[in-house]
Amino acid sequence: MTRVAQCHCGQLKANCVGDPYPVVICHCELCQRRTGSFFHVAAWFEKHKVTIEGEAKQFTRTIGDAGLSFTFNFCPECGTSLWWPAPSDSGAVAGKIGIAGGCFAEADFPAPTVSIYEKHQHAWIPTPEGVPSFKKGIQS
Ligand SMILES: [Zn+2]
Ligand SMILES: [Zn+2]
Repeated sequence: MTRVAQCHCGQLKANCVGDPYPVVICHCELCQRRTGSFFHVAAWFEKHKVTIEGEAKQFTRTIGDAGLSFTFNFCPECGTSLWWPAPSDSGAVAGKIGIAGGCFAEADFPAPTVSIYEKHQHAWIPTPEGVPSFKKGIQS
């Protein structure tokens, strides 16, 4: 099965084969600012299962306490940040590509498998039942 994630205007697309793993909810302040929402959801796919179409610009950020740099690819027309390769030292997701979960706009998209940076979680947002959760990154 192929799923397509796309930016707001539709010129930047990620065609993804199969199911993502992990699917990560992140409540950190950087993800809140990046998405303009109160948390983000990253769907991770093996690199070879993702084909990108369209033009992107890049923005690199370093996660403060984890020390990892992620380069986000966003649409120069509409600004949606769509995909980011995992840094090689990023443990569980190394070799994978993260795709903005909401950009699939599919109500039956696979549910989150982990929730991180809950120290920044807004009080009204529940953690899905049975999903492992962490105050910071996956190691903490
Ligand atoms: Zn766009
Ligand atoms: Zn985050």
